[in-house]
Amino acid sequence: MALSGLDIFKRLPKTNCGECGFPTCMAFAMKLAARQSELDKCPYVSDEAREELAEASAPPIRKIEIGTGESAFKIGEETVMFRHEKTFVNPPGFGVLISDSADEAAIANAAKKVDDVAFERVEQMLKPKVVALSNGSGDAAKFVAAVKAIQAVTSAPLVLMSSSVDNLRAALTECAANRPLIHAADASNYEAMAGLAKEFNVPLAIKADDLTALADLSEKVQTAGVKDIVLDPSVGAGNAGLADIVRTRRAALKQKFKPLGFPMITFPALATDDPDVEMVLAGVHLMKYAGLIILSDLDPARVLPLLVLLQNIYTDPQKPMQMSEGIYKIGEPKDDSPVLITTNFSLTYFIVSGEVEASRVPVWLCVMDVEGLSVLTAWAAGKFVPEKIAQFVNKSAVADKVKHRKLVLPGYVAQISGELDEELPEWQVAVGPREAGDLPHYLKQWSA
Ligand code: SF4
Repeated sequence: MALSGLDIFKRLPKTNCGECGFPTCMAFAMKLAARQSELDKCPYVSDEAREELAEASAPPIRKIEIGTGESAFKIGEETVMFRHEKTFVNPPGFGVLISDSADEAAIANAAKKVDDVAFERVEQMLKPKVVALSNGSGDAAKFVAAVKAIQAVTSAPLVLMSSSVDNLRAALTECAANRPLIHAADASNYEAMAGLAKEFNVPLAIKADDLTALADLSEKVQTAGVKDIVLDPSVGAGNAGLADIVRTRRAALKQKFKPLGFPMITFPALATDDPDVEMVLAGVHLMKYAGLIILSDLDPARVLPLLVLLQNIYTDPQKPMQMSEGIYKIGEPKDDSPVLITTNFSLTYFIVSGEVEASRVPVWLCVMDVEGLSVLTAWAAGKFVPEKIAQFVNKSAVADKVKHRKLVLPGYVAQISGELDEELPEWQVAVGPREAGDLPHYLKQWSA
Protein backbone atom coordinates (compact mmCIF):
# COMPACT_ATOMS: atom_id res chain seq x y z
CA MET A 1 0.00 0.00 0.00
CA ALA A 2 1.27 3.49 -0.83
CA LEU A 3 2.72 5.40 2.11
CA SER A 4 1.62 8.92 3.00
CA GLY A 5 4.12 11.78 3.18
CA LEU A 6 4.05 11.51 6.98
CA ASP A 7 4.75 7.75 6.88
CA ILE A 8 7.73 8.39 4.63
CA PHE A 9 8.94 11.31 6.79
CA LYS A 10 9.03 9.04 9.87
CA ARG A 11 11.57 6.83 8.07
CA LEU A 12 13.86 9.67 6.89
CA PRO A 13 16.88 10.91 8.94
CA LYS A 14 15.12 14.22 9.88
CA THR A 15 18.35 16.24 9.80
CA ASN A 16 17.08 18.72 7.18
CA CYS A 17 20.54 18.85 5.59
CA GLY A 18 19.13 19.77 2.17
CA GLU A 19 21.39 17.47 0.14
CA CYS A 20 18.36 15.91 -1.58
CA GLY A 21 17.60 19.30 -3.14
CA PHE A 22 14.71 20.03 -0.77
CA PRO A 23 15.03 22.30 2.27
CA THR A 24 13.60 19.79 4.77
CA CYS A 25 13.09 16.06 5.11
CA MET A 26 9.34 16.73 5.27
CA ALA A 27 9.39 18.54 1.91
CA PHE A 28 11.31 15.61 0.40
CA ALA A 29 8.85 13.13 1.95
CA MET A 30 5.89 14.95 0.40
CA LYS A 31 7.58 14.87 -3.02
CA LEU A 32 8.29 11.15 -2.63
CA ALA A 33 4.66 10.50 -1.70
CA ALA A 34 3.60 12.35 -4.86
CA ARG A 35 6.13 10.29 -6.86
CA GLN A 36 7.87 13.48 -7.94
CA SER A 37 11.30 12.56 -6.60
CA GLU A 38 13.52 9.52 -6.05
CA LEU A 39 14.56 8.02 -2.74
CA ASP A 40 18.16 7.80 -4.02
CA LYS A 41 18.44 11.58 -3.71
CA CYS A 42 18.84 11.21 0.06
CA PRO A 43 22.26 9.67 0.79
CA TYR A 44 21.49 9.16 4.49
CA VAL A 45 18.50 6.79 4.46
CA SER A 46 19.28 3.64 6.44
CA ASP A 47 19.28 0.30 4.60
CA GLU A 48 16.30 -0.83 6.62
CA ALA A 49 14.28 2.29 5.82
CA ARG A 50 15.37 2.09 2.18
CA GLU A 51 14.04 -1.43 1.88
CA GLU A 52 10.76 -0.51 3.55
CA LEU A 53 10.29 2.59 1.46
CA ALA A 54 11.28 0.94 -1.80
CA GLU A 55 8.76 -1.83 -1.20
CA ALA A 56 6.01 0.59 -0.18
CA SER A 57 6.70 3.10 -2.92
CA ALA A 58 6.98 0.55 -5.73
CA PRO A 59 4.33 1.22 -8.38
CA PRO A 60 1.51 -1.33 -8.44
CA ILE A 61 2.52 -2.27 -11.99
CA ARG A 62 6.20 -3.17 -12.13
CA LYS A 63 8.51 -1.26 -14.44
CA ILE A 64 10.05 -3.54 -17.08
CA GLU A 65 12.99 -2.40 -19.19
CA ILE A 66 13.43 -3.86 -22.65
CA GLY A 67 16.46 -3.24 -24.86
CA THR A 68 19.64 -1.39 -24.01
CA GLY A 69 21.31 1.89 -24.94
CA GLU A 70 19.39 4.27 -27.17
CA SER A 71 16.85 1.60 -28.14
CA ALA A 72 15.92 0.81 -24.54
CA PHE A 73 12.48 1.66 -23.29
CA LYS A 74 10.34 1.09 -20.22
CA ILE A 75 6.82 -0.22 -19.86
CA GLY A 76 4.64 -0.49 -16.77
CA GLU A 77 4.89 1.82 -13.72
CA GLU A 78 1.30 2.91 -14.26
CA THR A 79 -0.70 4.09 -11.28
CA VAL A 80 -4.10 5.16 -12.61
CA MET A 81 -6.97 3.65 -14.59
CA PHE A 82 -7.77 6.89 -16.40
CA ARG A 83 -5.41 9.46 -17.81
CA HIS A 84 -7.38 12.39 -16.37
CA GLU A 85 -6.82 11.05 -12.83
CA LYS A 86 -3.11 11.87 -13.09
CA THR A 87 -1.19 10.76 -16.17
CA PHE A 88 -0.17 7.59 -17.94
CA VAL A 89 3.56 7.10 -17.48
CA ASN A 90 5.31 4.87 -20.04
CA PRO A 91 3.91 4.78 -23.57
CA PRO A 92 3.50 1.29 -25.03
CA GLY A 93 5.92 0.06 -27.66
CA PHE A 94 4.60 -0.97 -31.04
CA GLY A 95 6.34 -3.82 -32.81
CA VAL A 96 6.12 -5.91 -35.95
CA LEU A 97 5.68 -9.66 -36.02
CA ILE A 98 8.10 -11.54 -38.28
CA SER A 99 8.40 -15.29 -38.73
CA ASP A 100 11.77 -16.96 -39.13
CA SER A 101 10.19 -19.06 -41.91
CA ALA A 102 10.46 -16.04 -44.24
CA ASP A 103 13.63 -15.61 -46.27
CA GLU A 104 16.37 -13.46 -44.78
CA ALA A 105 15.89 -10.54 -47.17
CA ALA A 106 12.18 -10.36 -46.30
CA ILE A 107 13.02 -10.58 -42.60
CA ALA A 108 15.53 -7.75 -42.89
CA ASN A 109 13.14 -5.59 -44.93
CA ALA A 110 10.31 -6.05 -42.43
CA ALA A 111 12.60 -5.41 -39.45
CA LYS A 112 14.12 -2.30 -41.00
CA LYS A 113 10.73 -0.59 -40.91
CA VAL A 114 10.97 -0.37 -37.13
CA ASP A 115 13.51 2.42 -37.71
CA ASP A 116 12.33 3.71 -41.09
CA VAL A 117 8.70 4.29 -40.11
CA ALA A 118 9.36 7.32 -37.91
CA PHE A 119 7.55 10.62 -37.66
CA GLU A 120 8.48 13.88 -35.96
CA ARG A 121 5.47 15.55 -34.36
CA VAL A 122 5.41 18.37 -31.81
CA GLU A 123 9.18 18.08 -31.55
CA GLN A 124 8.92 14.41 -30.54
CA MET A 125 10.14 11.47 -32.60
CA LEU A 126 7.41 8.84 -32.85
CA LYS A 127 8.31 5.34 -34.00
CA PRO A 128 7.76 1.64 -33.30
CA LYS A 129 10.14 0.07 -30.81
CA VAL A 130 10.45 -3.70 -31.09
CA VAL A 131 10.69 -6.57 -33.52
CA ALA A 132 8.80 -9.71 -32.47
CA LEU A 133 10.45 -12.74 -34.04
CA SER A 134 8.41 -15.91 -34.10
CA ASN A 135 10.15 -19.27 -34.34
CA GLY A 136 7.50 -20.42 -36.84
CA SER A 137 9.98 -22.77 -38.50
CA GLY A 138 10.58 -24.61 -35.23
CA ASP A 139 14.22 -24.74 -36.27
CA ALA A 140 16.98 -23.36 -34.01
CA ALA A 141 19.38 -22.54 -36.86
CA LYS A 142 16.72 -20.55 -38.73
CA PHE A 143 15.75 -18.76 -35.54
CA VAL A 144 19.35 -17.72 -34.93
CA ALA A 145 19.86 -16.72 -38.58
CA ALA A 146 16.75 -14.51 -38.37
CA VAL A 147 18.05 -12.88 -35.18
CA LYS A 148 21.32 -12.09 -36.98
CA ALA A 149 19.47 -10.73 -40.04
CA ILE A 150 17.41 -8.44 -37.82
CA GLN A 151 20.36 -7.27 -35.74
CA ALA A 152 22.21 -6.40 -38.95
CA VAL A 153 19.58 -3.78 -39.82
CA THR A 154 18.33 -2.46 -36.50
CA SER A 155 19.31 -2.13 -32.87
CA ALA A 156 15.64 -2.33 -31.81
CA PRO A 157 15.16 -4.94 -29.09
CA LEU A 158 13.54 -8.27 -29.91
CA VAL A 159 10.61 -10.22 -28.57
CA LEU A 160 11.79 -13.80 -29.05
CA MET A 161 8.78 -16.05 -29.51
CA SER A 162 9.16 -19.80 -29.24
CA SER A 163 7.83 -22.66 -27.18
CA SER A 164 11.21 -24.38 -27.44
CA VAL A 165 13.56 -23.59 -24.58
CA ASP A 166 16.53 -24.86 -26.61
CA ASN A 167 15.72 -22.62 -29.58
CA LEU A 168 15.28 -19.64 -27.29
CA ARG A 169 18.61 -20.39 -25.64
CA ALA A 170 20.31 -20.45 -29.06
CA ALA A 171 18.73 -17.12 -30.01
CA LEU A 172 19.57 -15.55 -26.64
CA THR A 173 23.20 -16.46 -27.12
CA GLU A 174 23.13 -14.03 -30.08
CA CYS A 175 21.10 -11.17 -28.62
CA ALA A 176 20.80 -11.35 -24.82
CA ALA A 177 23.09 -8.32 -24.50
CA ASN A 178 20.31 -6.21 -26.04
CA ARG A 179 17.88 -7.35 -23.33
CA PRO A 180 15.11 -8.95 -25.43
CA LEU A 181 11.81 -10.17 -24.01
CA ILE A 182 11.30 -13.92 -24.22
CA HIS A 183 7.82 -15.12 -25.03
CA ALA A 184 6.31 -17.13 -23.50
CA ALA A 185 6.24 -19.35 -20.46
CA ASP A 186 3.07 -21.36 -19.94
CA ALA A 187 1.92 -23.94 -17.42
CA SER A 188 3.82 -26.69 -19.23
CA ASN A 189 7.26 -25.08 -19.49
CA TYR A 190 7.48 -22.28 -16.94
CA GLU A 191 10.28 -23.83 -14.86
CA ALA A 192 12.65 -24.13 -17.81
CA MET A 193 11.60 -20.72 -19.14
CA ALA A 194 12.15 -19.10 -15.74
CA GLY A 195 15.60 -20.69 -15.62
CA LEU A 196 16.38 -19.23 -19.04
CA ALA A 197 15.20 -15.74 -18.05
CA LYS A 198 17.38 -15.83 -14.93
CA GLU A 199 20.40 -17.25 -16.77
CA PHE A 200 20.35 -14.50 -19.40
CA ASN A 201 18.91 -11.78 -17.12
CA VAL A 202 16.07 -10.92 -19.50
CA PRO A 203 12.36 -10.29 -18.90
CA LEU A 204 9.91 -13.16 -19.42
CA ALA A 205 6.41 -13.07 -20.89
CA ILE A 206 3.91 -15.54 -19.48
CA LYS A 207 0.65 -16.61 -21.06
CA ALA A 208 -2.44 -18.54 -20.04
CA ASP A 209 -5.99 -19.00 -21.29
CA ASP A 210 -7.69 -17.08 -18.49
CA LEU A 211 -6.79 -14.59 -15.81
CA THR A 212 -6.98 -17.06 -12.95
CA ALA A 213 -4.45 -19.31 -14.67
CA LEU A 214 -2.32 -16.29 -15.58
CA ALA A 215 -2.21 -15.09 -11.95
CA ASP A 216 -1.36 -18.62 -10.80
CA LEU A 217 1.45 -18.85 -13.36
CA SER A 218 2.75 -15.41 -12.33
CA GLU A 219 3.08 -16.54 -8.71
CA LYS A 220 4.92 -19.70 -9.76
CA VAL A 221 7.33 -17.80 -12.01
CA GLN A 222 8.02 -15.26 -9.25
CA THR A 223 8.62 -18.07 -6.78
CA ALA A 224 11.11 -19.44 -9.31
CA GLY A 225 13.02 -16.18 -8.98
CA VAL A 226 11.90 -14.13 -12.01
CA LYS A 227 10.93 -10.55 -11.15
CA ASP A 228 10.63 -8.99 -14.60
CA ILE A 229 7.44 -10.41 -16.05
CA VAL A 230 5.20 -9.33 -18.92
CA LEU A 231 1.66 -10.71 -19.00
CA ASP A 232 0.13 -12.09 -22.20
CA PRO A 233 -3.59 -12.40 -21.48
CA SER A 234 -3.97 -14.02 -24.96
CA VAL A 235 -6.69 -11.62 -26.07
CA GLY A 236 -8.51 -12.15 -29.33
CA ALA A 237 -10.63 -9.72 -31.31
CA GLY A 238 -13.74 -9.97 -29.14
CA ASN A 239 -14.97 -7.95 -26.20
CA ALA A 240 -13.92 -10.66 -23.75
CA GLY A 241 -10.26 -9.93 -24.47
CA LEU A 242 -10.69 -6.24 -23.75
CA ALA A 243 -12.58 -7.09 -20.56
CA ASP A 244 -9.65 -9.28 -19.47
CA ILE A 245 -7.16 -6.48 -20.08
CA VAL A 246 -9.26 -4.03 -18.04
CA ARG A 247 -9.76 -6.58 -15.24
CA THR A 248 -6.01 -7.17 -15.11
CA ARG A 249 -5.26 -3.47 -14.77
CA ARG A 250 -8.03 -3.01 -12.20
CA ALA A 251 -6.82 -5.97 -10.15
CA ALA A 252 -3.29 -4.54 -10.10
CA LEU A 253 -4.26 -0.97 -9.27
CA LYS A 254 -7.42 -1.21 -7.23
CA GLN A 255 -7.01 -4.53 -5.45
CA LYS A 256 -3.19 -4.28 -5.33
CA PHE A 257 -3.17 -7.86 -6.59
CA LYS A 258 0.56 -8.44 -7.07
CA PRO A 259 0.41 -11.50 -9.38
CA LEU A 260 -1.16 -9.27 -12.05
CA GLY A 261 0.96 -6.19 -11.27
CA PHE A 262 2.93 -6.33 -14.52
CA PRO A 263 2.65 -4.70 -17.96
CA MET A 264 0.86 -6.60 -20.72
CA ILE A 265 1.70 -7.60 -24.28
CA THR A 266 -1.03 -8.00 -26.91
CA PHE A 267 -0.98 -9.33 -30.47
CA PRO A 268 -3.51 -7.61 -32.74
CA ALA A 269 -1.44 -9.26 -35.52
CA LEU A 270 -2.65 -12.69 -34.38
CA ALA A 271 -6.20 -11.72 -33.39
CA THR A 272 -7.51 -11.03 -36.89
CA ASP A 273 -6.71 -11.24 -40.61
CA ASP A 274 -8.49 -7.99 -41.33
CA PRO A 275 -5.98 -5.08 -41.33
CA ASP A 276 -8.68 -2.56 -40.41
CA VAL A 277 -9.83 -4.62 -37.44
CA GLU A 278 -6.19 -5.08 -36.45
CA MET A 279 -5.70 -1.34 -36.41
CA VAL A 280 -8.81 -0.79 -34.32
CA LEU A 281 -7.66 -3.44 -31.85
CA ALA A 282 -4.23 -1.83 -31.65
CA GLY A 283 -5.82 1.54 -30.89
CA VAL A 284 -8.04 0.02 -28.20
CA HIS A 285 -5.12 -1.83 -26.62
CA LEU A 286 -3.09 1.36 -26.68
CA MET A 287 -5.76 3.13 -24.66
CA LYS A 288 -6.52 0.11 -22.44
CA TYR A 289 -3.85 -0.94 -21.30
CA ALA A 290 -1.13 -2.78 -23.21
CA GLY A 291 2.59 -2.14 -22.72
CA LEU A 292 3.64 -3.85 -25.97
CA ILE A 293 1.43 -4.10 -29.05
CA ILE A 294 2.53 -6.35 -31.88
CA LEU A 295 1.28 -5.63 -35.42
CA SER A 296 1.48 -7.72 -38.58
CA ASP A 297 3.03 -4.90 -40.60
CA LEU A 298 4.39 -1.39 -40.10
CA ASP A 299 2.52 0.27 -42.94
CA PRO A 300 3.21 4.00 -42.36
CA ALA A 301 -0.39 4.92 -43.21
CA ARG A 302 -1.60 2.69 -40.38
CA VAL A 303 1.20 3.32 -37.93
CA LEU A 304 1.02 7.13 -38.04
CA PRO A 305 -2.52 7.43 -36.61
CA LEU A 306 -1.64 4.92 -33.92
CA LEU A 307 1.46 6.87 -32.94
CA VAL A 308 -0.47 10.14 -32.91
CA LEU A 309 -3.09 8.53 -30.68
CA LEU A 310 -0.31 7.26 -28.45
CA GLN A 311 1.21 10.73 -28.22
CA ASN A 312 -2.15 12.22 -27.29
CA ILE A 313 -2.97 9.62 -24.65
CA TYR A 314 0.48 9.65 -23.06
CA THR A 315 0.98 13.39 -22.70
CA ASP A 316 0.68 14.65 -19.16
CA PRO A 317 -2.67 16.50 -18.95
CA GLN A 318 -1.13 18.79 -16.32
CA LYS A 319 1.66 19.90 -18.68
CA PRO A 320 0.68 21.60 -21.93
CA MET A 321 2.60 20.42 -24.98
CA GLN A 322 5.12 23.04 -25.90
CA MET A 323 7.31 24.13 -28.76
CA SER A 324 10.83 25.38 -28.21
CA GLU A 325 11.21 29.13 -28.16
CA GLY A 326 12.70 30.49 -31.35
CA ILE A 327 12.16 31.87 -34.83
CA TYR A 328 10.50 29.37 -37.15
CA LYS A 329 10.67 29.65 -40.93
CA ILE A 330 7.34 28.90 -42.55
CA GLY A 331 8.06 28.44 -46.24
CA GLU A 332 11.19 30.23 -47.46
CA PRO A 333 10.94 33.69 -45.90
CA LYS A 334 13.16 36.51 -47.12
CA ASP A 335 14.15 39.85 -45.66
CA ASP A 336 10.85 41.43 -46.70
CA SER A 337 8.65 38.62 -45.35
CA PRO A 338 6.16 39.21 -42.54
CA VAL A 339 7.23 38.69 -38.92
CA LEU A 340 4.51 37.19 -36.73
CA ILE A 341 4.67 36.47 -33.05
CA THR A 342 2.77 33.88 -31.04
CA THR A 343 3.14 31.68 -27.95
CA ASN A 344 4.72 28.24 -27.60
CA PHE A 345 1.53 26.29 -26.86
CA SER A 346 1.84 23.49 -29.42
CA LEU A 347 -1.76 23.69 -30.51
CA THR A 348 -1.44 27.44 -31.10
CA TYR A 349 1.77 26.90 -33.07
CA PHE A 350 0.29 24.21 -35.29
CA ILE A 351 -2.91 26.11 -35.99
CA VAL A 352 -1.02 29.30 -36.82
CA SER A 353 1.69 27.59 -38.87
CA GLY A 354 -0.92 25.52 -40.70
CA GLU A 355 -2.86 28.61 -41.74
CA VAL A 356 0.35 30.41 -42.75
CA GLU A 357 1.35 27.43 -44.89
CA ALA A 358 -2.11 27.46 -46.48
CA SER A 359 -1.63 31.12 -47.38
CA ARG A 360 1.59 30.26 -49.28
CA VAL A 361 3.09 33.52 -47.95
CA PRO A 362 6.51 32.76 -46.40
CA VAL A 363 6.72 34.05 -42.85
CA TRP A 364 9.12 34.42 -39.92
CA LEU A 365 7.14 33.06 -36.99
CA CYS A 366 8.51 34.13 -33.59
CA VAL A 367 7.46 31.60 -30.96
CA MET A 368 7.82 32.90 -27.41
CA ASP A 369 8.19 30.61 -24.39
CA VAL A 370 5.24 31.24 -22.07
CA GLU A 371 5.30 27.77 -20.49
CA GLY A 372 2.99 26.30 -23.11
CA LEU A 373 0.04 28.67 -22.61
CA SER A 374 -2.21 29.94 -25.37
CA VAL A 375 -2.10 33.62 -26.31
CA LEU A 376 -4.97 34.89 -24.16
CA THR A 377 -4.13 32.67 -21.17
CA ALA A 378 -0.49 33.74 -21.33
CA TRP A 379 -1.50 37.40 -21.47
CA ALA A 380 -3.87 36.92 -18.49
CA ALA A 381 -1.06 35.17 -16.59
CA GLY A 382 1.30 38.10 -17.20
CA LYS A 383 3.61 36.04 -19.44
CA PHE A 384 2.72 37.49 -22.85
CA VAL A 385 2.89 41.16 -21.99
CA PRO A 386 4.65 44.08 -23.73
CA GLU A 387 7.77 44.17 -21.55
CA LYS A 388 8.41 40.43 -21.91
CA ILE A 389 7.54 40.36 -25.61
CA ALA A 390 10.01 43.22 -26.19
CA GLN A 391 12.73 41.34 -24.32
CA PHE A 392 12.09 38.25 -26.42
CA VAL A 393 12.03 40.12 -29.74
CA ASN A 394 15.30 41.88 -28.92
CA LYS A 395 16.95 38.69 -27.74
CA SER A 396 15.72 36.64 -30.72
CA ALA A 397 17.61 38.80 -33.22
CA VAL A 398 14.74 38.55 -35.69
CA ALA A 399 15.75 42.09 -36.69
CA ASP A 400 18.82 40.58 -38.38
CA LYS A 401 16.60 38.53 -40.68
CA VAL A 402 14.45 41.31 -42.12
CA LYS A 403 15.04 44.79 -43.44
CA HIS A 404 11.61 46.06 -42.34
CA ARG A 405 10.50 46.58 -38.73
CA LYS A 406 6.88 45.48 -38.69
CA LEU A 407 5.72 42.96 -36.11
CA VAL A 408 2.31 41.29 -36.32
CA LEU A 409 0.67 40.70 -32.95
CA PRO A 410 -2.19 38.19 -32.48
CA GLY A 411 -5.56 39.96 -32.66
CA TYR A 412 -6.59 38.56 -29.29
CA VAL A 413 -4.10 40.85 -27.54
CA ALA A 414 -4.75 43.95 -29.65
CA GLN A 415 -5.09 45.92 -26.39
CA ILE A 416 -1.33 45.70 -25.72
CA SER A 417 -0.25 47.00 -29.13
CA GLY A 418 0.18 50.60 -27.93
CA GLU A 419 2.30 49.59 -24.96
CA LEU A 420 4.33 47.22 -27.12
CA ASP A 421 4.98 50.09 -29.55
CA GLU A 422 6.56 51.97 -26.65
CA GLU A 423 8.63 48.97 -25.56
CA LEU A 424 9.85 48.38 -29.12
CA PRO A 425 10.43 51.89 -30.50
CA GLU A 426 12.22 50.58 -33.61
CA TRP A 427 9.27 48.41 -34.56
CA GLN A 428 5.86 49.18 -35.89
CA VAL A 429 3.36 46.87 -34.20
CA ALA A 430 0.48 45.69 -36.39
CA VAL A 431 -2.53 43.84 -35.06
CA GLY A 432 -3.24 40.62 -36.89
CA PRO A 433 -6.54 38.73 -37.03
CA ARG A 434 -8.08 37.22 -33.90
CA GLU A 435 -8.67 33.88 -35.57
CA ALA A 436 -5.85 31.95 -37.23
CA GLY A 437 -8.31 31.02 -40.00
CA ASP A 438 -8.23 34.66 -41.14
CA LEU A 439 -4.44 34.67 -41.49
CA PRO A 440 -4.31 33.65 -45.18
CA HIS A 441 -6.49 36.61 -46.16
CA TYR A 442 -4.49 38.93 -43.88
CA LEU A 443 -1.11 37.79 -45.15
CA LYS A 444 -2.05 38.13 -48.79
CA GLN A 445 -2.75 41.81 -48.13
CA TRP A 446 0.30 42.29 -45.97
CA SER A 447 3.03 44.60 -47.08
CA ALA A 448 6.07 45.75 -45.24
FE1 SF4 B 1 16.50 14.94 4.88
FE2 SF4 B 1 17.92 13.21 3.45
FE3 SF4 B 1 16.99 15.43 2.30
FE4 SF4 B 1 18.96 15.58 4.09
S1 SF4 B 1 19.06 14.57 2.10
S2 SF4 B 1 17.11 16.88 3.94
S3 SF4 B 1 18.41 13.95 5.48
S4 SF4 B 1 15.79 13.77 3.15
